[in-house]
Amino acid sequence: MDELVEVRRSRRARRWTLTAPWGAPPRLTVPTSFSDAEIDEVIASHRGWIERQRARQVPRLRLDPRVSEEAARRAARELVAMVAEEEARALRVEVGSVRVRDYRSQWGSCSPRGTLSFNWRLVLAPFEVLDYVVVHELCHLRVPNHSRKFWRLVETRRPNWRDQRDWLRVHGDELLAFRPAA
Ligand SMILES: [Zn+2]
Repeated sequence: MDELVEVRRSRRARRWTLTAPWGAPPRLTVPTSFSDAEIDEVIASHRGWIERQRARQVPRLRLDPRVSEEAARRAARELVAMVAEEEARALRVEVGSVRVRDYRSQWGSCSPRGTLSFNWRLVLAPFEVLDYVVVHELCHLRVPNHSRKFWRLVETRRPNWRDQRDWLRVHGDELLAFRPAA
């Protein structure tokens, strides 16, 4: 079923903007001069966009509240290890060990010896987000800082990395706050 879109007419708006914030109805802001027909047209032609945003926002494990932290951690470790193994080959880097941890404010880290650690809550995010964080840390094995050279390397492996970074900026706090049912 199509989601109901909240429409707001704004005197300050010079053009329309559509957002689909997490956990809230999509909102369309339009200039006061916009007609109802124009509003309907924008909404109708952006149904696909709204659906795509929603699909990306679905946290995976939260669909099943019975999943325990242990199971979530196991799933995280498996996914992370899978991506790390594949990408290490592509990046020609040596991965020491891969761990998942209970970080309170970060997604991953990488030691000079090649130990990669990741926040298990990444398993709650869309796969592309977890995938990006793993690739990001692996790239640090080649370039330890966040220089241009680093981002160019990330870009060769994941051209859409900005989408995943943005997702984490928007939803990161929500993921970090997640506590599984005991
Ligand atoms: Zn980094």
